[in-house]
Amino acid sequence: MQNHTEKAIAYFDQHAENYLEELKTLVRIPSISFAGFPASAPRASAEATADLLRRSGFDHVALLEIEGAHPYIYGEHCKHSGAPTVLLYAHHDVQPVGDRSVWLSDPFEPSIREGRMYGRGAADDKAGISVHASAVDSCLRSCGELPLNVKILIEGEEETGSDHLAEFLRVHKDRLRADVMVLTDTANFDTGVPSLTVGLRGLIALDLEVRSMKQSLHSGMWGGPLPDPAMALAKILASLVDELGDIAIPGFCDRVRPLNPKQRQGLEDLPPTREDFRTQAGLLDGVSLLTADNPHASIWWKPSLTINAVQASSREEARNVLLDSAWARVSVRLVADMNPEACLDLLESHIRANAPWGVEVVCRPDGSAGAWLTEASHPVFEAAERALERGYGAKTVYMGCGGSIPFVATMCRELGGIPALLIGVEDPYTNAHGENESLDLSDWKKATHAAIYLYDELARCLQK
Ligand SMILES: [Zn+2]
Repeated sequence: MQNHTEKAIAYFDQHAENYLEELKTLVRIPSISFAGFPASAPRASAEATADLLRRSGFDHVALLEIEGAHPYIYGEHCKHSGAPTVLLYAHHDVQPVGDRSVWLSDPFEPSIREGRMYGRGAADDKAGISVHASAVDSCLRSCGELPLNVKILIEGEEETGSDHLAEFLRVHKDRLRADVMVLTDTANFDTGVPSLTVGLRGLIALDLEVRSMKQSLHSGMWGGPLPDPAMALAKILASLVDELGDIAIPGFCDRVRPLNPKQRQGLEDLPPTREDFRTQAGLLDGVSLLTADNPHASIWWKPSLTINAVQASSREEARNVLLDSAWARVSVRLVADMNPEACLDLLESHIRANAPWGVEVVCRPDGSAGAWLTEASHPVFEAAERALERGYGAKTVYMGCGGSIPFVATMCRELGGIPALLIGVEDPYTNAHGENESLDLSDWKKATHAAIYLYDELARCLQK
C-alpha cells in the first residue's frame, strides 16, 4: 500500500514526458523582461503560465498587474482551514540571449542533448515554475488533495531587479499570507547534490567617466605633455584591489564577519573542489586561483570587486589618438553587515582620491542592494533537508550564493519575516544568463520528487 507521497511520485514518473512538454511550451516564449524588448512576450508567458497553473489544479488563478511591471501570476489550492500554508515562488521572465552565434541551438526552441535541455529560461527560471506546477499536479491527480495549503506567485520582472515587487507585496499582502515560502530560483552545489541556499551577496555598482581634455587629439602632435584619460582610468581601476585581488579600499571590508562554525562546516562538507572548480569556471591552464582557501568561501562569504565594462574608443575605432575621455563600470558583491550606501560612498571617495593628474572624474551609482543571510534555525530547514535527501538520494548541502537576488530580502521583509527556503534546480553547468543555458533533466525530476516530499514534511513540521 503506497502512501500519498509515493503515489504522487509514481504519478509524476509516469507522466514526466507530459510535464516536460509543458516546460518546453514555456521555454518557446521569448519572455525577455528588459527595456527595448517587446512587452507582448512576457505577457504571453504570463498567460501560458496561468493556463498551466489552472491545468495543474490551482484555483483563483489570475494575472496580477501593477503599473510599470510585467504581469505576475497568482494561484492557490487552499482547502484545509487551519492547516499550514506554503507560498511557492518562481519567475517567468528571462534574460536576453546574449551572442546568438554562440548558441548551439535556437535559444527559444528547447533542444535535448545528453540529458540536458538547452534553451533560454529552461533552467532560470521556467524550471522553477515547472517543478512547482508538476509537483502540485501529481499530488492532486494521484490523491485528490494536498497535505497543506499552497499558494503560488510567479514574477515577471525578476531579471530586471524586481523593481515593483515591494509595492506589489504591499498591495497583495493578505492574499499572500503564508507560514513558509519556497523560492525556487537558485542553484544546487553540483549536479545531483541538493542544496539549501542560506545566504546571498548584495551588490553595488557605479560607473565612472574620466576626462582630461575638451576633445580628442592627434597622439603625435599632442602626445607627451597631456594626461591620457584611459591611462588615468587604468591607474584608478588598478588601485581598487591588491596583488591578491582583494579589495584595497580602506575601511571597505571592516564589517565583514569571520566565518561562523556553521558556514565553515558547510564548506567542509563539500567534496574536494579546487580542480572541479577550475573546470566549471573554464579557467585557463596556468592562470592562478586567487585564494588558498576553498573557492566557495570567497564566493559565498566574502565581498568581491569586478570591472564589468571599460570603454575608451573601441576596437573598430582604434587609431593614433589621445582620447578625451574613458569610462568604466565597477561592481562589488557585498556580504552580510556591509551597508550598500556606505560602501558606495567609500568606493567613490577611493576613486577620487586615486585619480592622477587632476583629471575630471564623474561617478554615477548604478544600483545597490544589501546581502541576505538566514540563521537557518527554524525547523522548516530540517524538514527541507529531509525532503531534499529523499528526492535526490544524496546529502543536502547548506550553501551561500555569490549572486544577488533582490526579491529574497524584499519577500522576507514584506511578508512578515516568515522563513524562506531557497531550493533551486540549476547546477554549475546551467550557465544561467549566458549562452547555451541548460537544465539537467535528472535533477529536474529529483527536484520535483523533493517538492512532493517537501509538502508532506512541511505539513507535519508546521502542524497547528
Ligand atoms: Zn532566476
